[in-house]
Amino acid sequence: MHFDYVIVGAGFAGSVLAERLATQADKKILIIDKRPHIGGNAYDCLNEDGILIHQYGPHIFHTNSPEVVTYLSQFTEWRPYEHRVLASVDGQLLPIPINLDTVNKLYGFSFTSEELADYFASVGEPVKDIKTSEDVVVSQVGRDLYEKFFRGYTRKQWGVDPSELDKMVTSRIPTRTNQDDRYFTDQFQCMPLHGYTKMFEKMVAHSNIQLMLGTDFKQVKDELSYDELIYTGPVDEYFDFCFGKLPYRSLRFDHQTVDVEDYQPVSVVNYPNDHAYTRITEYKKLTGQEHPKTSITFEYPQDEGDPYYPVPRPENAALYRQYKQLADEQKSVHFVGRLGTYRYYNMDQVVAQALTLYKKLVGADSLQEAINS
Ligand code: FAD
Ligand code: UDP
Repeated sequence: MHFDYVIVGAGFAGSVLAERLATQADKKILIIDKRPHIGGNAYDCLNEDGILIHQYGPHIFHTNSPEVVTYLSQFTEWRPYEHRVLASVDGQLLPIPINLDTVNKLYGFSFTSEELADYFASVGEPVKDIKTSEDVVVSQVGRDLYEKFFRGYTRKQWGVDPSELDKMVTSRIPTRTNQDDRYFTDQFQCMPLHGYTKMFEKMVAHSNIQLMLGTDFKQVKDELSYDELIYTGPVDEYFDFCFGKLPYRSLRFDHQTVDVEDYQPVSVVNYPNDHAYTRITEYKKLTGQEHPKTSITFEYPQDEGDPYYPVPRPENAALYRQYKQLADEQKSVHFVGRLGTYRYYNMDQVVAQALTLYKKLVGADSLQEAINS
């Protein structure tokens, strides 16, 4: 059979494009994924105890883009959820992002917000040109808070010191002088009411879309007949690593079910300094599910394994630019998504990127038009 588009990857990038092209432009689509399921890294499923878990670590949806919310709301209802994270530091569980309560509890102070702002100004180390992930934090909150909350976590998570990582990594985490303990401040923060996988099932349920799961594109590409290719896997792999390997950081997920109803006070607890794992997630606190047992996941960062995180460092950005140039020369191959464009993107950013590519493919004038067309 001949397809208008073959799409490699059934995650957000691939599924959004398949849905748009099939339902709005009447294109015949084949989605291929080497995993045995749709959803990419956002895949969730019931485990053997019937508890909904995220197979590839905690996925919390948050965005400031009304277009992305409008688009995804066609495929799911939402459960309001504001993410809160505690970090285990010096024997206490303290709010992260660092806020007024974090500092007062850690040091036994009773600062007001104004006093905390003065304190940050006194301990923050002036950095002329903020370039690295160390610069960002040390300049805002000083060395002690940096060491306690960021240095160890970042070294574990990325395998390099924050001084060797682009500033965008730790810039994801703000510093606050008030008591706001939410991880995100985005206008829209919700979880898909019945989970991510149910949402993906609705996106790809169309007679123009065929799925080929558990199949590596490399193994079948010569047998396929199609006009255009949309590729959401690692861009360096597509080009047989011709300029060398782009580094990705991986994780090992240790999923466990424990025979208690309630394991920890919030859905995610970070361990910046102790243990080989970075964080423990308790899913029922994300999903709202009630169950006499509870499921948790420990995340152990590692180099080898599925590519989860592009590593934001100047030399990696330079290497990616070489691949990007080659990618731009392929007129009937389109690279998109976190791996396809080597970007540390959240889910909403990937959805927006995919809608933008759709718009380009069909010549729509705006994101709104891409959604409504
Ligand atoms: P993926 O979801 O990675 O999909 C790519 C797919 O391509 C994969 O399924 C892969 O199997 C397939 N593939 C690759 N190569 C081939 C091949 N050769 N043949 C066939 N198939 C192939 N974002 C948030 O907004 N909030 C969060 O809380 C959040 N938490 C995260 C936690 C973790 C641990 C991780 C790793 C990511 C998190 N993200 C979060 C980011 C989010 O996962 C991504 O933004 C999003 O899933 C990217 O979608 P994608 O389609 O680009 O890529
Ligand atoms: N980070 C940290 N300590 C924390 C939380 C985050 O040092 O308690 C740093 C770390 O480098 C991490 C980055 O901030 O990789 C971004 O954190 P985020 O929670 O956004 O990571 P993700 O959910 O993408 O893994």
